Amino acid sequence: MSGRPWRVLVADDEPVTRLLIRAALEKAGFQVFLAEDGEDALRLFSAEPCDMVLLDVNMPGLNGHQVCAHLRHQLGDEFPIVMVTGMDDIDSIRRAYDAGATDFIVKPVNWPLLGHRIRYLFRGVQVLKDLHAANARNAAILQALPDSLLRLDADGMVLAAHLTNADQELTGRPMPGDHISAVLPADIAHRMLKAAELARIGGDGLTVNYALSRNDGTEHHYEARLADITGEETLCLVRDVTERKNAERDIQRLAYVDSLTGLPNRLSFIQRLEREIKRARREGDRLAVLFLDLDGFKNINDSLGHGIGDLLLQRAADRLRQGVRPADLVARADPLDTEVNLARLGGDEFTVLVPSLHHADEALGLARRIHELLRRPFVLDGREIVMTASIGIALFPDDGEDADALLMHADTAMYHAKDEGRDNCQFYRTALTLEAMRRLTLESSLRQALERGEFFMAYQPQLDLATGRVQSLEALIRWRHPERGLVSPMEFIPAAEESGLIVLIGEWVLRAASADAARWVAAGTPVRVAVNLSAVQFMQPELVGRLRTILAETGLAPQWLELEVTEGVLMEDSAATLNTLQVLRQDGMQIALDDFGTGYSSLSYLKRLPLNRIKIDKSFVRGLPADKENLAIVRTIVALARNLGFTLVAEGVETLEQACLLRDMECEALQGSYISEPVAGEAVPALLSARWPLTAT
Ligand code: C2E
Ligand code: CA
Ligand code: CA
Repeated sequence: MSGRPWRVLVADDEPVTRLLIRAALEKAGFQVFLAEDGEDALRLFSAEPCDMVLLDVNMPGLNGHQVCAHLRHQLGDEFPIVMVTGMDDIDSIRRAYDAGATDFIVKPVNWPLLGHRIRYLFRGVQVLKDLHAANARNAAILQALPDSLLRLDADGMVLAAHLTNADQELTGRPMPGDHISAVLPADIAHRMLKAAELARIGGDGLTVNYALSRNDGTEHHYEARLADITGEETLCLVRDVTERKNAERDIQRLAYVDSLTGLPNRLSFIQRLEREIKRARREGDRLAVLFLDLDGFKNINDSLGHGIGDLLLQRAADRLRQGVRPADLVARADPLDTEVNLARLGGDEFTVLVPSLHHADEALGLARRIHELLRRPFVLDGREIVMTASIGIALFPDDGEDADALLMHADTAMYHAKDEGRDNCQFYRTALTLEAMRRLTLESSLRQALERGEFFMAYQPQLDLATGRVQSLEALIRWRHPERGLVSPMEFIPAAEESGLIVLIGEWVLRAASADAARWVAAGTPVRVAVNLSAVQFMQPELVGRLRTILAETGLAPQWLELEVTEGVLMEDSAATLNTLQVLRQDGMQIALDDFGTGYSSLSYLKRLPLNRIKIDKSFVRGLPADKENLAIVRTIVALARNLGFTLVAEGVETLEQACLLRDMECEALQGSYISEPVAGEAVPALLSARWPLTAT
């Protein structure tokens, strides 16, 4: 008690004793209130509440016991009430305790000791109060704690338990006297007891991690911390760490899984590959890495939007999953791990690991199967999209000793596959690495080519079968590289498209071809010139404006300019595409659909497009007339074009036989080496005056 002195109420009917007690207590520093009898004591107490009451047992009216019982009832267990009794009155002492007295003092009172005695009693009271406060604090802490708490004895008996509601649901409510193994599964209880023992002999930071399943099937993770209390008792604090565990697992997932497709990502593929390389090295095994890239995916993304692009990637991933699952290939792999064989590296690139290979042919077989799987059209958003893939294969140990080298070489092989024409598969060979290096420098050389005027145009005639004359020319760009000589557009156009340089190059082509065409018109030999437009160019909002400027600057009437676009461009069934085409047509330009049949899409949308003609792709003309499949395809395309009212040009016509066949099918025009290879502008006038009377063999 700080500040004010302790207040003691003394009730005694004997005036002398009263005064003596007062003198003794005041001397000891207490403040004293005196009552003459029981009633007086109660009255005084309610007027002046005190910290302790001293009651004489024998008083007239209410005796000490009665007052004691009354106050005890009123003030609760802890309030100190001291009875003053006769020394030999054992019965009275017993009754004093019955009435709830805290202690007693016997008469005759030892006056010099009285003060000490009372002070000692007060100290006891204070200790008790502190203890109660401490208990209340502990209880509050336990309530506030999100943890469950067990106190165990050395044998693993529960001494006390405080469980959160959630934990009670799971384990029930352990009672003091239960053994820990009745609360938790045996193996966990065993680990807990071991840790408790360690805690008792002085180990610290002891934790036991375990998981329990709820009735609803969800798994909960716990972390129990054990601390020694007295050497006999252990405190066990149990925390539900499920959320933390889940978060850790999610982070793990994010780090290793591609969120779009749910496939393992690059990181997890590389780690898996590294493990497999180690194993293969140890066991003298061979393995293969397939690097797969979807053909023309960029076009789909550009023309149909990223939503469809993402959807297509997901569907493709699903098919690939089917493709790599068959047991024959992954028989030796852990079935749970099978999926790791397939990964998405990013964009439209996927990889497949064949962990154990007998022959290189097996990898090729898998690549073929993947090609088959992808070939079935994807139906997205009511549209049919045909997707092919280019696949490169690198082998361990043949093509590289580590994961980086294998992946890089498989990538190189994939590019080679693309160059071979899409929907293709290639193994890595050392020579290809050089080519990869060249690819890197290609972009910067293309810029220089534009600046240094290394490009020029070639023209390939299209024979009009009705007149036997050349009425149009396809303009094809040529690049005379200062060191490498002529470089094929098949090599540099894709690079130009990827880097965006195609916009500048394409504009150069349009201007050059328009200028040439304007000259031929002026010379009295008018001929239509067909210029190839890349998808990237077509998507430029400035396209129409640029075309008008170029026509105006070169003085070419729009009817002599034809634009060749591919299906990828037209696939975007949007108002903008349709609008651009309509504006070009209204201006008087012609539109041809190039490479018809190699694209992705169904044909129903063609009807709405303002096209003039369709060009049958050379891959269908090749092998005619012997190739029955191609023959059937060409017949179908001819019928379709008739139906939709488009004229037809066949590309890649190389023989008289092909020319006659196409003529008989009523194809309107022919283009190909049988008529003429592409020629330089100077050679065009000669072609324009020539005639090709087609006579059947
Ligand atoms: P493409 O539009 O399909 O052009 C026809 C290609 O077939 C030309 O190849 C042509 O030389 C070739 N060819 C002609 N006759 C025959 C034949 O009888 N048999 C075979 N097998 N092929 C024949 P080239 O000139 O190498 O052009 C390749 C591709 O490069 C073109 O394919 C076109 O997609 C692109 N390209 C060419 N010039 C340009 C251009 O100025 N702009 C754009 N964006 N692309 C261009
Ligand atoms: Ca073309
Ligand atoms: Ca073509």
